[in-house]
Amino acid sequence: MVTAFYVVLFAIGTAFGSFLNVVTLRYQPGRSVFSMKALGLSAQAGGRSHCQHCGKTLTAVELIPLVSYLLQRGRCRSCKAPLSLQYPIVEFVSGAVWVTVPLFVSSFYGISSGVFASLAAPLWGYGLALVWVAVFLTWLAIFVIDLRHYLIPDELNLFLAALGVAAILLLVAYHGAIPAFRDSFLRHYALLASPAALGVWVNHLLGAAAGGLLFGLLVFLGRGRAMGMGDVKLALASGLLLGWPDILLAAMIAFILGGAWGLVLVCTKKKSFGDRVPFAPLFTLGAAATVFLGYPLIGFYFSLFGF
Ligand SMILES: [Zn+2]
Repeated sequence: MVTAFYVVLFAIGTAFGSFLNVVTLRYQPGRSVFSMKALGLSAQAGGRSHCQHCGKTLTAVELIPLVSYLLQRGRCRSCKAPLSLQYPIVEFVSGAVWVTVPLFVSSFYGISSGVFASLAAPLWGYGLALVWVAVFLTWLAIFVIDLRHYLIPDELNLFLAALGVAAILLLVAYHGAIPAFRDSFLRHYALLASPAALGVWVNHLLGAAAGGLLFGLLVFLGRGRAMGMGDVKLALASGLLLGWPDILLAAMIAFILGGAWGLVLVCTKKKSFGDRVPFAPLFTLGAAATVFLGYPLIGFYFSLFGF
C-alpha cells in the first residue's frame, strides 16, 4: 500500500518533469518563464506537443513521460531525428524528487508515519514536504536554463525566496513540534558555526546575507566574467532556504565540483582556462547535496581526524 503511494508520487513527478521540459525548452531570454508561450497555452505555441524537427504531432501514448522516450527509442518515429536526452533525464529526476524529498522530510522532521505514506501526518509535515519538492523542482529548472542560456531568470529566484519565507513560517509556527537541531540540515554540527542559539528568522536571514555577500564579492572580484548577478540572487534565495551555516557547505560543494569539472574540461581540451562556465548547475547540486548529505558529509569529514 505504502509502495503504491510512492509509485503514484513518482508518476506525478514525471508529469511535472515533462512540464519543466516544455517550459525550459521553450524559454527565451528576455521573456518570462511563466509567459503563455513558454507554458504552451497560447495559440502561437502550436497547441499540442510535436516533434521539433518534422512537426509530427505526438500520439496519446507518446505524451506519457519516460514511456514516450522509451517507446520511441530516443528518436522521432516519423523523421528519425534524435530526441533530446533532456526529456527522460528531467522527467526521471522530477519523479525521483517527488519520492525522495517527502521521504527525507518525513525522516528529518521525525514524522514516523511518513508524509504522503499515510494521511495521518501533521499538517506542517505536508507543508514542508510540498515546499521542499517545489524548491528542488525550481533548482532543476534553474540548472537546465543556466546550462542552456548562461542566465537565471529573476522570477525563478524570486519564487525560491518566496518558498524560503513559506518554509520559515512553517518552521516558526510549528517550532515546538519539530525536534531540536532540525533547523539546520547539518543538525548539531551547525553549532560549530553558530554557537549561540539563533532564532529561526535570524538564522535564515543570516544564511541569505552570507550567500548574497559571498557571491557578490566573487562577482566584484571577477568583474562579472566568471559569475553574474543571477548567481548572487540564487545564492541569496537559497541562503534564505538553507539558513546558516548550511549555505556555506552548499557553496563549498559547488566550488569543489566546479574545480573537478573544470579540470576534466581542460584535460579533455573541451574548454580552456578563462572560458565561461554556467555556475548555477554546480550551485544547485551543492545545495541539493547539503540537504540530503550535509549531515553525513560533515560527519565523514570529522571522522578523518578521528572524532
Ligand atoms: Zn520528427
